[in-house]
Amino acid sequence: MKEIYFELGPDCASGLDQSDSLKNFHAEFLFPKQKNGKNVLYFVGNSLGLQPKKARAYVEEVLVDWENLAVHGHTLAKHPWYPYHEFLTDSTARLVGAKPIEVVVMNTLTVNLHLMLTSFYRPTKKKFKIVIESGAFPSDQYAVASHAKLHGFDPKTAILEWRPRTDQRILNLEDLEELIQSEGDSIALILLGNVNYLTGQAFPLKEIATLAHTKDIVFGVDLAHGAGNLELHLHDDGVDFAVWCSYKYLNAGPGALGGCFVHEKHAHDFARPRLEGWWGHDKKHRFLMEPVFRPMAGAEGWQLSNPPILPMATLRASMELFDAAGMHELRKKSVLLTRYFEFLLKNSGIQKMEIVTPSKAEDRGCSLSLDFGNAAKSIMVMLSDEGVLCDYREPGVLRFAPVPLYNRFQDVFELCEILKKHVE
Ligand SMILES: *Cc1c(COP(=O)(O)O)cnc(C)c1O
Repeated sequence: MKEIYFELGPDCASGLDQSDSLKNFHAEFLFPKQKNGKNVLYFVGNSLGLQPKKARAYVEEVLVDWENLAVHGHTLAKHPWYPYHEFLTDSTARLVGAKPIEVVVMNTLTVNLHLMLTSFYRPTKKKFKIVIESGAFPSDQYAVASHAKLHGFDPKTAILEWRPRTDQRILNLEDLEELIQSEGDSIALILLGNVNYLTGQAFPLKEIATLAHTKDIVFGVDLAHGAGNLELHLHDDGVDFAVWCSYKYLNAGPGALGGCFVHEKHAHDFARPRLEGWWGHDKKHRFLMEPVFRPMAGAEGWQLSNPPILPMATLRASMELFDAAGMHELRKKSVLLTRYFEFLLKNSGIQKMEIVTPSKAEDRGCSLSLDFGNAAKSIMVMLSDEGVLCDYREPGVLRFAPVPLYNRFQDVFELCEILKKHVE
């Protein structure tokens, strides 16, 4: 759909909401309330997703089983704890476009990133560099630098940045291509955040995987802002590994468990070093308590510990909603919702605001990053007083994430009315 189909008044928003096939999912979530009793206008699903109403009952189920069954809950609970993480496998695979053997829910994002870097960053004297996007999320920067150091390299020479051109913030694929052409023989790994947390730019994973592999470079992705936001095809795109968290778009609650993808081509590569723990040991033989580690094939072979069941319960509640809606439909609505948001902003008459995020749907997820310069913080406070939640990121950027599961076109319309009234 092109911008021409949108109109500026409230009727357009209500019309879009009425014809939204996903509109009923709004009622599956709990919203914080404003002082006047209305729901807040929530645009921070990219930071902490809202609570699915079912989450409480799913947690309660575990607590009740623990109360009544105690240790027998491992096998006799309504959803037995021993294989509990497997209840999440199929929906997780669908979410990121993977085969079941390629995904596992475990740990948290940065922990999983370290596990992946341990296995997939195997530098040699000649081929040791790591490419990240400039402006990568700090935790990713720390993680790659620490692995360079672990192998005896100086991060100053080992870490290369894919940088924007002068006076630009958005990255150009040709520049990465050039970097790979000129430095490829010394590059061991590329790690990108997809979507970039600050600019909202999404990168073409298939093209980058292909470019990387022509130079025998491993390609890993941090999907903190991609999982549950973009329609992903990690298997077909040929990404080597990916990690993500579940408290942002995946609505599994604060500090929720992370996810991990390891491409099928590495599923049986047992010669590749990894950090080992008993939960990665071949399931059939795990309780034989053998002294030598026998890894499970696929992503599950990177598990270390028996997983925490309570946080998995909230994730299960959320993943059922993603399954019911389907990532393809969610993304379709998301593209429309964000285009509508962009249309209203561009027609708002607000000066002194730059939309940082690229405007092509394939170059972004649902969120828009708006640069308000020095005014950003006071605008955020004003919005908060008006019952709108967004977030601030240095320098001067407010991020708004209308998410297709629970945000409505009406929410976006009201947000833009409030911005128009107060900004300038
Ligand atoms: C949110 C986020 C993280 C957070 O990492 P945790 O280990 O879950 O605390 C990491 N990387 C990116 C790109 C993020 O956006």
